[in-house]
Amino acid sequence: MSEARVLVVDDDEAVRAALVGTLGDAGYDVHESCDAASMRLALVDWAPNLIVLDACLPDAEGMSLLQELKTSVTYRELPVILIASRTPDELTELALGLGAADVVRKPFRPRELMARVQAQLRAHAMLRSTQTALRSAEEELDRVREDSENRRKLVDILHEVTGDLSSDEIYHILSRRVARALSLSRCSVILAKPGDRVGVVATAFDNPALRNYEINLDAYPEIRAALEHGHPVLVEDLHTSPLYEDLRREWAANGTQVPIRSVIALPFTLGKVQAGVFFLRRMVDEPPLTNEDVEFADAVIKAAVAAIHRAQVIETTKADNARLEVLAHTDPLTQVLNRRALTVRLASELERARRYDSVITLLMVDLDHFKMVNDTYGHLAGDEVLKEVAALLEHEVRSVDVVARYGGEEFVCVLPETSLVGATTFAERIREHVAATPFAASLGDPIFVTASIGVSSYPSTTINTVDDLFARADEALYRAKADGRNKVCL
Ligand code: GH3
Ligand code: MG
Ligand code: MG
Repeated sequence: MSEARVLVVDDDEAVRAALVGTLGDAGYDVHESCDAASMRLALVDWAPNLIVLDACLPDAEGMSLLQELKTSVTYRELPVILIASRTPDELTELALGLGAADVVRKPFRPRELMARVQAQLRAHAMLRSTQTALRSAEEELDRVREDSENRRKLVDILHEVTGDLSSDEIYHILSRRVARALSLSRCSVILAKPGDRVGVVATAFDNPALRNYEINLDAYPEIRAALEHGHPVLVEDLHTSPLYEDLRREWAANGTQVPIRSVIALPFTLGKVQAGVFFLRRMVDEPPLTNEDVEFADAVIKAAVAAIHRAQVIETTKADNARLEVLAHTDPLTQVLNRRALTVRLASELERARRYDSVITLLMVDLDHFKMVNDTYGHLAGDEVLKEVAALLEHEVRSVDVVARYGGEEFVCVLPETSLVGATTFAERIREHVAATPFAASLGDPIFVTASIGVSSYPSTTINTVDDLFARADEALYRAKADGRNKVCL
């Protein structure tokens, strides 16, 4: 990090000297500019890694200069730390909103400034290396399978997990997506190191209640083998595999019936640490898992782990960065709330409903046969449809309601103070409106889509928690799909 080039832009000679001295002493390569014109020259000639920019220069306003940098294709990723004489909150907010990495108040303490410069350079370097890793992972994915259907699924999954999610959420989404892509009834993430006798369930797609549950790895020889050798382990049939010979004897002795047929344990590392395995299973009445499935899941998970790593970095640097805070709540494609923000919001809404003896309803809106939209019109048109559907939902709801993107082509509306009856009318209206709207007309022929909607409401005998609300809505949605789609079900 010590060879990093830092450009100091300030018209005040004393401040400039102080900055150059402090940064130089810390081992940075420093260059100074006294106005916007010389800054622009230095950008081209000297290619800095970070700019420390005075908010007020003789020939330009700091804000407009910041905007110029952040809207330029070449420099928008360059971290800029803005130095302001005073920092009313509004100015800070505006600067962060425009894309400043940080705002520091004058007079600044050298140690604090140094810490901020260092943090930004580190975050930036991390982001760059993750982007590179993701790019190469995506290239690798392209080679994995000729089958275009599966490649698309991979791209979707990557798309979904490269947003700013916490590692927990990424584990959850990944296990759900891998399970769906491979038609698995069971998929979980187990955290453990080589040699561990006990693993902890980070997420279980098939049974969320298992989260944080400890499992004895003696009963899972493929997990132990995968951790030990660092390679995926496939057991096509537990009932014939030599790996399970001892356990089969135990099962026979105890009269245990094991309904599982195939398993895959896929080890993954975070940084240099062996973090655990993705654990995929199929039941005896399902087709066995194959080496192709191993390749597919391995490619997804390798790429996604890069994203998890990035998410962890973001988690730790987020605290003092308002810009990331907003990003962390917003789905980048549709600009509605993302899943994390939804979960937080829903928890507080449910709490409120509980406290005031009120009602709350959740709609789970899933676009029908959306894969076909992508296949027919292309992914970009698909993206545009998603954006416009999100906008339609935002437009339809009241200001107290919440719209969020739950996953790929699934949206959630939270309607506080709304009972099942009221919400059903509302859901019906949304369903009709979606079906009647020509989407993505700006890109060519209008695209028509329909949506299936599952509805769940609190209070109800089977609904006590946020997870219950989701689970009941998901079940209702499933019924709407099974019933022919373009339906609302309770
Ligand atoms: P169903 O009616 O059963 O829900 O069918 P479906 O095709 O909508 O459902 P499935 O869950 O099998 O596929 C969802 C599709 O949504 C797959 C993927 O191509 C698409 N998708 C998910 N996220 C995105 C995205 O961000 N952009 C685009 N263009 N497509 C996406
Ligand atoms: Mg769908
Ligand atoms: Mg779906």
